[in-house]
Amino acid sequence: MQKQDELLVNVTINGKEIAAPSSLSTIQALWHAGYPRVKSVGCLEGVCGSCRIMVRRKESNQVSMELGCQTLIEEGMQVNFLVFPTPTHHTYDLNTIKSSWEVQGRFHKIFPEAEHCRHCGGCNRSCPKGIEVERGVELASKGRFREAGELFIECVMCNFCMTACPETIAPNHVGLFSRRVTAYFHTRPGNLISRLETLRKGDLDVKK
Ligand code: SF4
Ligand code: SF4
Repeated sequence: MQKQDELLVNVTINGKEIAAPSSLSTIQALWHAGYPRVKSVGCLEGVCGSCRIMVRRKESNQVSMELGCQTLIEEGMQVNFLVFPTPTHHTYDLNTIKSSWEVQGRFHKIFPEAEHCRHCGGCNRSCPKGIEVERGVELASKGRFREAGELFIECVMCNFCMTACPETIAPNHVGLFSRRVTAYFHTRPGNLISRLETLRKGDLDVKK
């Protein structure tokens, strides 16, 4: 609903030029202009991660990744809603992990790509929630699941990080796994588990 005397701003959303009140989010602006968008629209509260958008603001060369329901329109803004292909699925059953000693080994079987992180920072730059995604992947790879899981508490599963990753790591799923195993097990010290996993793989140089 337009408030009295409210300014209309001109924006381009998915190639459509729209004039809408400045108090509207990008999704509301689309609806206001008569485009009944239903794809990539979810909770409208900023927690489901469905309404991923790329945004370029007037007189800026930068493109940012944001959530459409949380981004108010601004004069000259260009917006594109993103629909990603079916995301990666990692299937696992925590009940089949007998104890927390096995968690790191199982993690690397489920997420073998996590060890190939290039530390390019693409996931950090793409995250609309400002999460230290790269660090989360690194911590999980080292078996520090409690710390990794804590980093992903604000994650809305928007999949931006996964799409940005040149190694097809799904950092958000790494985060979810970390939170689940932390809740499921009273995990033993991560550095000890990590050292045992290194031993198991025969990568530890033990001096006799
Ligand atoms: S960690 Fe990934 S899925 Fe979660 S909010 Fe950030 S970009 Fe989205
Ligand atoms: S985008 Fe992928 S490879 Fe790059 S830092 Fe993030 S997890 Fe690692």
